[in-house]
Parts: sequence; C-alpha cells; structure tokens
Amino acid sequence: MLFSEVVGQQTAKNNLIKMWQQNHLPHALLICGQSGAGSLPVSLALAQYIFCEHRTPVDACGHCASCVKVAKMEHADLHFSFPSIAPKPGVKAMSKHFIKEFRDFILKKPYGSTFDWLQNINAENKQGNITAEESRAIIESLSLKAYEGGMKILIIWRPEYLGKEGNMLLKLIEEPPANTIIIFAAENIENIIPTILSRTQMVKLPPISIADITNKLLSSSAVDTRLAQQAARLSEGSYPEALRLLSDVANDLFPQTRNWFNMIFTNNGIGLSKFVEDFAKMGREQQKNMLQYVIHLLEATIHHRYTNTCNLIDDELSFVQKLAKTTISFESLETMIREIAATMYHIERNAHAKMQVHALSIKMVYAIQNKQVSSLIN
Ligand SMILES: [Zn+2]
Repeated sequence: MLFSEVVGQQTAKNNLIKMWQQNHLPHALLICGQSGAGSLPVSLALAQYIFCEHRTPVDACGHCASCVKVAKMEHADLHFSFPSIAPKPGVKAMSKHFIKEFRDFILKKPYGSTFDWLQNINAENKQGNITAEESRAIIESLSLKAYEGGMKILIIWRPEYLGKEGNMLLKLIEEPPANTIIIFAAENIENIIPTILSRTQMVKLPPISIADITNKLLSSSAVDTRLAQQAARLSEGSYPEALRLLSDVANDLFPQTRNWFNMIFTNNGIGLSKFVEDFAKMGREQQKNMLQYVIHLLEATIHHRYTNTCNLIDDELSFVQKLAKTTISFESLETMIREIAATMYHIERNAHAKMQVHALSIKMVYAIQNKQVSSLIN
C-alpha cells in the first residue's frame, strides 16, 4: 500500500517519513488509531516505504520489485502476526495457519475490522487470540536472516489480543535483531499490556477528517457529492464506516430533515404525523443515521452562531444559516441535540420508534419556542 492510498492522516505520514529519513524510526513502533482510522494501512504503507528501492521524499515508488511484493503482501521479509483461532481441535491458534486468508482479506479490506476478519475465518463465537505459540514463532522468525538481505519488518495487527504471553516478546522488543522493525497496529491502547506499551514509541492517528473521507469517497467511486459528505460526516472519522453508510444510506437525508423542521416550525400536526409514519417505516440503522444527521446540522448551527462559519454547502448551508438566525436559544438547540441523542439511544435498544419520534417531535416544537421541555412532560 502506498502512503497516497491511505485515507487522510497526512501528519502521521509526514512524521513517519521524517523519522525514517532522519534515522529516528524506533525498532518498536506502535501505530494507534480508533477503529477505521487506518492503523493497519498506515503500517503497510510504512513497510512498503522502507522496502522500496526507489522511494521519493513523500512515498514509495509503487513499481519496483519490492513495492510489487509488498503490494501483493508477498514480501519475504514482511511478517505478520494477527489474532487467529485454533484451526482444529488440538492445534494451537497461530497466524501461519491463516496467512493465506489474512493476505486475501487485507488485500480486499485493508480497513477491515478484527470482527470482519474473525468472521472471515469462521471464528463464529470463538475469541481471536495471539497465543504463546505465536509469540514463540515471532521470536523465531525474526531471529532468521532477512531473505532479501535488507530490513525485516513484523506487523503485529491488534496487539490488544496479546495477553500476558505478550511478555515473551519483551526482550525482542527491547533488543531486536539488527535491521528489524516491529510495528504494532492498534486501535485501543487501553487494552495493550503495559509492559509492551512502555517499550514502544507511539504514533497516534486521529479520526480521519470529514474532508479527507469525502475526497476519498468521491475519487474512488461515482458518487454524489452530497451523499459522500453525509456519509463522511456520520462516519465519525472511520473510512469503512463511511463506505458502509454510503451503501446503506443510499438516499439524501436532507429533504426529509428539512420537511421535518418545516412541520416543527409551523407546528403542523398532520405533517408531523405523516413524518412519524414515514420514519417508523425506515430500517433501524437508517433511523439512527437520520437522527445523527440532524444532530450534525444542529451542531453546525451552534458553530455558525459562534463563528459565523460553516463547512456545509448548498441547501444544507442555507438551512443552517437560516436556523442560526432564528430566535432559538443556545439552550434550546442543546436541548434538541440532547433529546435526539436520547431518542437514538432508545431506538438502539428496540424502543418503539413511532412513539419515540412522535414524542421527540413534540419536544422539538417546544424547544424551538424556547419553552422548557420538562414543563411539557410534567
Ligand atoms: Zn518501490
């Protein structure tokens, strides 16, 4: 994978390249970002950069023999360790039993989650694991000479799955063989054993920016700009989540939202009932997406009031501008956000969507009149 193929994360990419160029890249590196932020893609891009025979100041060349091998996940000195399961009773879980499946999976889904991966190898209810046997195999494979005579790189995907057996790796991490780099690609540092954490240097990946996700979606598929932006905004910085939303949402959330607000502003009981009926017919995920989308618009409205700026365009922008100019107080805008979030919470837990959104609509009518919602309930 090239750095240019990694979605966003420009700061981390620049820092890693700089560390390599200045000879400051640590032997044990922890690349950590929330699910979907790209810790594995960044690790792969770094490995390719290190192996590349004609690297530029910003990226690997993409076509030398080393790049071709890394891109196919076939470089002999690029090792992988990842959560796996016992392939059959009596055989310990080890990466080598699933390396072919892992290569195929990562080639198809470099942003895939461990859940996706474990599903992919039919782990079903089995917990993935990085075992003591795996740790021994890691030590053994890194003690061998590099096949191609250069660097050896081990990517440990999701070190969170290393339990206390991870302590077997401490010596290796502290004193790795010459020309060896160990990259831990993680999502949640709280679940990494402290002995490993304290021996690695961390590069943190923030959630991917809305603009970076939008640009990636627009450049990789023929998708409407508005839909790409909506998916990016709802994805909370996760590229695979944006992809999922794009295929799930599939229609523009704005017209329905605008319609709902029109009914709320005019306190149009019949219109609101119709909205509630239509809302109840949507799938649960779509209901949550829509409510989350409304929260984003309300947050943009608050932001606009404070800063007079807004990163939306077209009719979403004019909607936010109009809403920002109304007499609705900050408190009421915040109340709306809180009530919508509470409704999402209940819908997630299988509450009756129709009743929930009906009650929410009434609370919204009160909120825009700057009336206390509690006075309605009590
Ligand atoms: Zn190259």
